[in-house]
Order: sequence, then C-alpha cells, then structure tokens
Amino acid sequence: MTSEPARSSFPSFSLALPAWVGTMALPGDLPSGRDERMRLILRLARENVLRGTGGPFAAGVFEKGTGRLVAAGLNLSVPLHCSVAHAEMVAITLAQQALGTHDLSTPGLPPLELVSSAQPCCQCFGIVWWSGVTGLVVGARTEDVESIAGFDEGPLPDRWADRLRDRRGLPPIDVAIDVLRDEAADPLRLYRASGAAAYHPRGGPAAGT
Ligand SMILES: [Zn+2]
Repeated sequence: MTSEPARSSFPSFSLALPAWVGTMALPGDLPSGRDERMRLILRLARENVLRGTGGPFAAGVFEKGTGRLVAAGLNLSVPLHCSVAHAEMVAITLAQQALGTHDLSTPGLPPLELVSSAQPCCQCFGIVWWSGVTGLVVGARTEDVESIAGFDEGPLPDRWADRLRDRRGLPPIDVAIDVLRDEAADPLRLYRASGAAAYHPRGGPAAGT
C-alpha cells in the first residue's frame, strides 16, 4: 500500500486586496484625467513593492467619462500562489464582482476602461479581450518590464493594439500606450533594487534574477 501526500480534493480560492490599499484608493474615487488615473495606479504598484505584498504592477477599472474608480488590482501571484493573479486580472475580476456581471460592456453600464501600470502580458491580453472594457491605458511597455525587472511577459499577437481596436464584431477597445511611461518604470526599478525575484524570469527559472 502506497501513501500519498495529503491534499484537498476540492480547494477553494478567494481574491482580496491587501488592507493597505484602502488607505490609498477606494471605489468611488474620481481621478479626473488620464494622467491622474495612471498616477493613482502607479502609486499602488510602488506601494505593493514597498509593502512586500506582490509584484511591481497595478491596474484599475475606471468609468471612462467620470473617472470613477470601480475596482483596483495588484499583482498578487506569489502571495496567493496563483499565476492568474496579475494586476489586470485582479482589477477586472473585482470590477465584475462589484458590478455583478461577467461582461463589463453589458447594457446599462457606463463605458469602462482598464488603466494598467504596464502593457498586458500574454495572459492579460486575453482578459482584456473578454472582459468587456472598451478602453485600455498602458504605462510601461513590455520591453521596460523585461529589461528593467527581468520578467518574461510571453508572446502577444502581432499588432496587438490594433487587434484590440478592431475586433471584428465585438466592441472596439481604445488603446493608449506610453502614458507616463517614464514614471511607470519607477515601480519596476524599485522591484529590481529590492532584490525580489522575477517569478516568471526571462530565460526560464535557471535565469531567475
Ligand atoms: Zn499579466
């Protein structure tokens, strides 16, 4: 008779932001313009590094017109033992829970945009596509994430931004890149300087930094 390691047959999972987020941002906040929305997100990304609660990324779902924050997200992959828990995934998931729908383009909702401290990785490109947001605002580029913080962001479709803008039957997603790009590199530099490991390092685990 062989013995097997103990494990839960049906584990469950819950998603929650660290408590400190509530001291910096709450649903209903109204950063007025695009730069102000991005600055709020970059403060969250920086704080996530300083507090040691995750990777150097943050995102938020905002009402396009008013700037109302619907939900914020942080990278929580390592503390939650969850490769899905990238900042964009967390922000969109919490926004969908807050609004009670899997489709953020559902009739009756105002147009919503995702503001992300960095360009979506291959995984987050997918949730941007399916989430229902009709806007994407990006700070740092993938090349910044990879060269500064040492992450591997995975492959994206060619002309990925154009693919979001023209989705052949689905609502188009406006894409703005390089929004406060220089400032968006700060959380990445901070993370690198902290000595924290890139959990998806470029070149594979053996090349982890
Ligand atoms: Zn991602």
